[in-house]
Amino acid sequence: MADSSALVLFSGGQDSTVCLAWALNRFDRVETVGFSYGQRHNVELEQRRIVREKLSKLAPSGHTLGDDTVLDLPALQSISDTALTRETEITFAATGLPTTFVPGRNLLFLTYAAALGYRRGIATLVGGMCETDFSGYPDCRNDTIQAMAQALSLGLASPVTIETPLMFIDKAQTWELAAKLGGDELIQIILEDTHTCYMGDRSHRHPWGYGCGTCPACDLRAKGWAEWQARTRDAAAAGA
Ligand code: ZN
Repeated sequence: MADSSALVLFSGGQDSTVCLAWALNRFDRVETVGFSYGQRHNVELEQRRIVREKLSKLAPSGHTLGDDTVLDLPALQSISDTALTRETEITFAATGLPTTFVPGRNLLFLTYAAALGYRRGIATLVGGMCETDFSGYPDCRNDTIQAMAQALSLGLASPVTIETPLMFIDKAQTWELAAKLGGDELIQIILEDTHTCYMGDRSHRHPWGYGCGTCPACDLRAKGWAEWQARTRDAAAAGA
């Protein structure tokens, strides 16, 4: 491969951590980009630094974790602070998404990541978008992502590829992929250090990691973990 480098959209959550491990297994040079937009909890940005450091030690030889860039996107805060109209409030409640959710957020992230990649000489972006779990996020769907890659390639007059290793797998399979990529060491990093909880809760430790245990992100993570554990038990029983 002529250009064996990738830029991973890395938040420090479970999904982007698995994506980073995936990229480190596949590309010689991997860089990361994160976005700071006044997240209610700085815990996300803090955990991301810790996870990154630990993952760099897990990288196969010859593969290096390079620079990290955190881009400040305060405009996202203004959008998420803008009150919803009555009608959208009802639609929003039905999706189970937090009201701070920013519509089209992934499109903005990808645009900034592609622009940064252009400057850094990296044409491949890696993101944890997944259309299996969050049917409420239209900007996570494969059609959207592929159309975005095409728009970015045209707009930059330079081919942009967007890899989404989690697109068609569920949360249980994400744990399975993590185990395949980094064994128990990676599983432990995900459990102890990655942060997914919408509430920024890191005081409650569950079998699946830290979080409030009740927000949609915690719920999804807990269900995925339980399902993976059950599948692993069934497979062991079948093999015994
Ligand atoms: Zn939570």
